[in-house]
Amino acid sequence: MVDSGQVSATLRLSVGEIRLAHPMTVPAGAVPATAVVPALQGLVNAVVEAAEQRARDMGKAVSCRKGCGACCRQLVPISRTEGERLLAVIEALPEERRAAVRARFAEAEATLARAGLGDVLLDPEKRAGKTDRELSAAYFALALPCPFLEEESCSIHPERPLVCREYLVTSPAELCAGPNQEGVAPLAVPKFSSSARKLQDDADTWFPLALLTAWSRTRSADRVMRTGPDWVQRFLRQLGSK
Ligand code: SF4
Repeated sequence: MVDSGQVSATLRLSVGEIRLAHPMTVPAGAVPATAVVPALQGLVNAVVEAAEQRARDMGKAVSCRKGCGACCRQLVPISRTEGERLLAVIEALPEERRAAVRARFAEAEATLARAGLGDVLLDPEKRAGKTDRELSAAYFALALPCPFLEEESCSIHPERPLVCREYLVTSPAELCAGPNQEGVAPLAVPKFSSSARKLQDDADTWFPLALLTAWSRTRSADRVMRTGPDWVQRFLRQLGSK
């Protein structure tokens, strides 16, 4: 269905044990990839809700609560597309808040540089010799809060990255702050966020959310334009190609 520049359709998905019929609305015309991020956020929300329901049916409950920001000190890998979207989110903040968020990003960048992790995490070639587990452990050891974390809650909750939506646990919340994440039981959620990483470039590219502003200084200015349905189809193809 096409209505005032938008096109809607119901997506029927079957991923693992999850079956879903999810209505999606995207721009009908040619747009940058960032324009379909809200539709992808809605899709991931629906997948996560279905995964939560499945866990409840098996007698498990999600223990994540507002005000518990332990997982917001982990390395959060995000895609170029989500990075571009988040830069626009920061730009749209009232001046005072924008300055505070930018200051926290500058602080995070300095902390990672002091730890010798800044260049490594921003450059896929430099991190090639290290496993994701090694990088995550080194990052988590810094106890560096995400620059969007305020009073242990996400200050951009409706705009938080897909990977943040997908990370929920069913184990006691206090275990999440442990140094080795021992005993932490993440909810089994299909990782749609990794398809977003290949949305604009076929390669699986990511950078840490905490280095968003550092990444923005080096990013390519090229912007590919496709119709909303084309972007969604490309996203779904990446999902099937894993
Ligand atoms: S974006 Fe929000 S949910 Fe994600 S790590 Fe940062 S504060 Fe936490």
